[in-house]
Amino acid sequence: MYLNNKVIEEISLHALKTYPEECCGIVTGNDDRQTAHPCLNIQNSLHAEDPGRYPRDARTAYTIDRKEIADIVSLAKQKGEGIIAFYHSHPEHDPYFSQDDKDAQTVFGEPEWPDTFQVVVSVKAGKIHDMKCYKWDREKKDFIQNKTSATNEHE
Ligand SMILES: [Zn+2]
Repeated sequence: MYLNNKVIEEISLHALKTYPEECCGIVTGNDDRQTAHPCLNIQNSLHAEDPGRYPRDARTAYTIDRKEIADIVSLAKQKGEGIIAFYHSHPEHDPYFSQDDKDAQTVFGEPEWPDTFQVVVSVKAGKIHDMKCYKWDREKKDFIQNKTSATNEHE
């Protein structure tokens, strides 16, 4: 499983557009057809409303509104498509899958989307630096970098 070039291009453009803030979005589709859905990063609003609970702003964190996720998921289901990947960017940081990223994708240690890829794109000095893909490993109970990475085709 890998993302097609068009989707990788769209994710990259989205990451450059929101830089120096994090972008986030969802990829839906199937093996033949993939669609990137850029989402709004609501982290700045959360941080402004409750900086105690949300100490990070959009430069180092992201949150997708639950309603936006639900709308994209239900539209995909109507079309008979699956949820292929979630993506977000790391401005000025490597594309590691951070503890915050794990926390955002798990509830009581279990992943909300165990079969969905997690793509992280690193942007440094306003340029795409690297892109890595992670997936939940049921035995290790952790997100592990996927060998057939999103960047295989890209590099
Ligand atoms: Zn992250």
